[in-house]
Amino acid sequence: MISPEYQQEYYQALLEKKTEYEGLFYVGVKTTGVFCRPTCPARKPKFENCEFYATAQEALLASYRPCQRCRPLSHPNHVSDVVRILVEAVEKEPEKRWREEDFRQLSVDESTARRQFKKRFGMTFVEYARARRMGLALKHIRSGQTVIDTQLSTGYESSSGFRDAFARIMGAAPTLLTEDRVLKASWIDTTLGPMIAVSSEEALYLLEFVDRRGLEREVERLRIKTKSAIIPGMTEPIRLIEQELNTYFSGKSTTFTTPLQLLGSPFQQQVWDQLMKIPAGETRSYAQIASALGKPSAFRAVAQANGANQLAIVIPCHRVINSNGELGGYGGGLTRKTWLLQHERTPLQAIQSSNALIHEQGEYNS
Ligand SMILES: [Zn+2]
Repeated sequence: MISPEYQQEYYQALLEKKTEYEGLFYVGVKTTGVFCRPTCPARKPKFENCEFYATAQEALLASYRPCQRCRPLSHPNHVSDVVRILVEAVEKEPEKRWREEDFRQLSVDESTARRQFKKRFGMTFVEYARARRMGLALKHIRSGQTVIDTQLSTGYESSSGFRDAFARIMGAAPTLLTEDRVLKASWIDTTLGPMIAVSSEEALYLLEFVDRRGLEREVERLRIKTKSAIIPGMTEPIRLIEQELNTYFSGKSTTFTTPLQLLGSPFQQQVWDQLMKIPAGETRSYAQIASALGKPSAFRAVAQANGANQLAIVIPCHRVINSNGELGGYGGGLTRKTWLLQHERTPLQAIQSSNALIHEQGEYNS
């Protein structure tokens, strides 16, 4: 979300329909559930019902759907047919996962769709559809709405698209009553974008950026492996990790004490243990991790285990780079990897100088 200092300015731009703000922000309207461009001709919402986003993807992930009037996903003066057809198709079946033949059925060329979406919104159509789907699925998790038994039996919402999107990822809610286990999921806003945390009352199972590719399958695997239903809710481990992430992002600490539940093969667990031994501010190569495990030739398996990490930041898979010094991959995206590594190289100094400051102030006070 856009920082508070800009929100008033953007709200003013929204009231005045200022064209120079096109592309700078999108506004989600809480009362209607749609997001708009700054120049939308519709009646303007009250400030307290607005949420401002820098990208359309963020607005989608926050469960907003594109406004029918200002069509925030089209060029201001030109509505592309391809974009319109696809956006409408997504609204008809928001829970759908798109495959090649789906494009053919709509007589839309997949590569044209990819290009047009990428050029205008910085994401491909498949990413758009995923963001919309995840936004819907995570709507209750984001609002922190607790699901009570009556809701479970009557369904979440009248919209079957929403129910299906949620159920496909989090598991069919009604079966909860017969499930042995329940895991709870919460939404955590961070400097690098929203994350989802899934936990039992005892330990954290999953922590990922909401826009991470493959998150849906990750959550599904977790659900199947643990034979659990996942419902929106808060637990002690989630409260703790939220606190620790705050401290981490403000540069005050790089230590995490939240109890973790690692679900992986013995080899994966060994790799993750190694990752947690890499000090903040340093990096290792896949080959170095493999050597540390006494299996120097297993660096590909190490890379795979690295990618299978479900606890972003806490298990610092971002600290593993290629042997040639290149960044390598990152499930949460390379921009985030770069940011995290940069951030971890600076905190000690930051801590020292802020401690010094506190010290000085303390002396003034005494
Ligand atoms: Zn609009």
